Order: sequence, then C-alpha cells, then structure tokens
Amino acid sequence: MARYLIVADIHSNLVALDAVLKDAGSVDGFECMWVIGDMVGYGPDPAGCISRVTTHPHVCVAGNHDLGVAGAIDLASFNADAARACLWTRKILGVKEMEFLRMLPTESVEPPFLLVHGSPRDPVWEYLTSAGQVVRALQQVRVSTHCMVGHTHRPAAYLVREDGRVETQCVYDGTELHLDDGRLLLNPGAVGQPRDGDPRAGYAIYNDSSGTVSFHRIAYDVACVSEQIRVNGLPEWLGTRLHLGY
Ligand code: ZN
Repeated sequence: MARYLIVADIHSNLVALDAVLKDAGSVDGFECMWVIGDMVGYGPDPAGCISRVTTHPHVCVAGNHDLGVAGAIDLASFNADAARACLWTRKILGVKEMEFLRMLPTESVEPPFLLVHGSPRDPVWEYLTSAGQVVRALQQVRVSTHCMVGHTHRPAAYLVREDGRVETQCVYDGTELHLDDGRLLLNPGAVGQPRDGDPRAGYAIYNDSSGTVSFHRIAYDVACVSEQIRVNGLPEWLGTRLHLGY
C-alpha cells in the first residue's frame, strides 16, 4: 500500500509547494511524489523547488518551462513574460540543477498511470481542455489504463466509460474518484500558478490500496511570493496573477 502526492506546475513557487507538502503530510502522509512538469519558470525560487522535490522519493516528467530553461526548446515559442522568466531562471540555477532539468523524461509509466505534462500525443505542448480531445488522447495510451497531465493549470477529471461515453467530472477541494469505473484522465491543478480563479495551490493524492484519487486545495502566502517576484525583477504581472488565481 502506498500513497502518492501528485503535483504539477510548481513554477518555482516554493511557498506554495511547502504549503502542499505540509498539508499532504499532515493527514496520512505520502511515500512518493509525482511531479507532472513545469517545476520551474514564472516564479522566484527555482533552486528551492528542485531541492525540495529531490529530498523526497520522486518521479518527475518535463514540462515546456523546464525544457525552455534547459535550452532544449526555443524560447521563441513562449510569451514574453514566460520567456523573460526562463532567461532569469537560467541565470540563477547552478550546473547541477540545469542538468537535472535537461535530463527529465517527457513521460513516465507509473502503473496504472501514464504521466505526461501536456498530452500523450504531444507531452510538451498540447493543452487538453475538451472531452473530445481526451477521448483521442486516451486512445493513444496503451501502456497504462489512466493518464495524469498538468499544463492547463486547472484541476480536471474526465472519465471515459467502456462504451466510449465520456463524462467531465467536477473537481473541488475534497473530491474523490474511484479508478475502477473506466479510464480516467486527471489533472491535479497547479501548485504555483492556478488558473481556475482560485488562488489556492492544488494537488492530488493517489491511494493505491483504496484505488482512489482525491483532489485538494490549500491556501498559502500569495503576497509574500508576489513580493519575491517583484524584488527579483521578474515581470510584475506574474505576481498579480497569483492573487487572481489566473
Ligand atoms: Zn505550467
């Protein structure tokens, strides 16, 4: 029996990550972290986030910002604020941290899940936001039953039943889903920059003995992170949007 902490889109927000680790650890704890891409980018403490993740047993896959910082993809594909934050992140990370980002795989099979940042078809860039896309995405997943993604910064759950019907499930703080109902594509939401109008950090817990995934939100000191973004000379909008949950 094991419990897995599932996080995505930490985005160099150590204050939010620490709030998640404390909250997830305070109930029944967890044995391993799954990080579904974008550990860095946008926020003020990339080294702190890499350090914190790697002190726990972890499985990480790469997101577009991780690869942008590592120089594996062209920053011309990013919006101006994101590219500026990637360049800033490159400057302050050490050789070991850059190597860690460069070596991240773009997918990982953790039965019964496939972990990818974007989608099974395009692990780095594709945003899965509609039921039709999810059906097509899951058809491409043959190595595992279910799929975990990040990238949209919004918690989400899609259930594809055996007859092909797809249901979009509403996901709130405390929502619990059973894995045996069909094939699921899940997004735990973003730790470091939620975009669903709720500024609280999002995460999920997979419990392999009960076969359930639960979704959670936890408040953190947004004003403190917003100030760190300003002090470090990162674009001010990146702090403002944290207050808005956008
Ligand atoms: Zn992201």
